Amino acid sequence: MPELPEVETVARTLNALVAGKTIRTVTVRLPRIIQRPREPEAFAAALEGRSIRSIGRRGKFLRFELDGLVLVSHLRMEGRYSVCPADEPIGKHTHVLFHLTDGTDLRYKDVRQFGTMHLFRPGEEFAQPPLSKLGMEPLDDAFTAEALRRLLGGRRAPIKPLLLNQAYVTGLGNIYADESLHKAGIHPERPASSLRPAEWTRLHEAIRGTLREAVEAGGSSVRSYVNGQGEMGMFQFRLYVYGREDEPCRTCGAAIVKTVLGGRGTHVCPVCQPYRKARAQKPAGKASAAIPRRMAGRAAESAARPRSQNK
Ligand SMILES: [Zn+2]
Repeated sequence: MPELPEVETVARTLNALVAGKTIRTVTVRLPRIIQRPREPEAFAAALEGRSIRSIGRRGKFLRFELDGLVLVSHLRMEGRYSVCPADEPIGKHTHVLFHLTDGTDLRYKDVRQFGTMHLFRPGEEFAQPPLSKLGMEPLDDAFTAEALRRLLGGRRAPIKPLLLNQAYVTGLGNIYADESLHKAGIHPERPASSLRPAEWTRLHEAIRGTLREAVEAGGSSVRSYVNGQGEMGMFQFRLYVYGREDEPCRTCGAAIVKTVLGGRGTHVCPVCQPYRKARAQKPAGKASAAIPRRMAGRAAESAARPRSQNK
């Protein structure tokens, strides 16, 4: 599923391709993509003659600002937009066609058919689902380390599923949650409530740094993602853990381990991301923590797994 960097890349590409153009008519070939209004005819009629002002993003949703309307579109697993001449043959998986007045089509293709489109009056979109359910934008100024800690710090659930929950922070999916946790040196199964202040700061920096770098690289092309111009993102070549099971960690050389957490494949470096459960449960951990690891031998090893260098 495309995550924040991929959707941002699609928005930027579409902006360059169709902003300023005008919709002549709309063809809906698969009604279930259209969620609001329910009737595809009403959806098509409302869009006729509207010009496209700009395309932006909220969470993993594309937000088309039109003249007097807003179209909210979610690509889900495999949704894709492309622009082509109107007389190009229509593919089997092309479900919605926006015929533009300049003789081109903006086409929405979706092999899995899970994508959605909602139409709103401007401003109305933020007060109603799906956008009303979304949490903080991780690249906004309001998203600080303190805000992240306030959102999640009181929860005993493992940190990774909390990062995937779009109601807290929106835009992170499986790839960037794994990457951010690795960068921060935090094990995905750690209860959020066990993170220390320095770890919230590291996690916050890792989330923003990872997303910014990925946006710059045009997103990650894992499975079938390509941007609106059919180009692949390049960030997949810079992933540290995601999709790298058994390969050496780019930071320390240890083999990346793949586990399942909350039903999602989860990639961890056991050295960079130690799970300190054993240590946390000890009533008085001071003594073992004070023994230098080199000298401690078996006692300390059973009490705590290796720590990362950048603690
Ligand atoms: Zn490592």
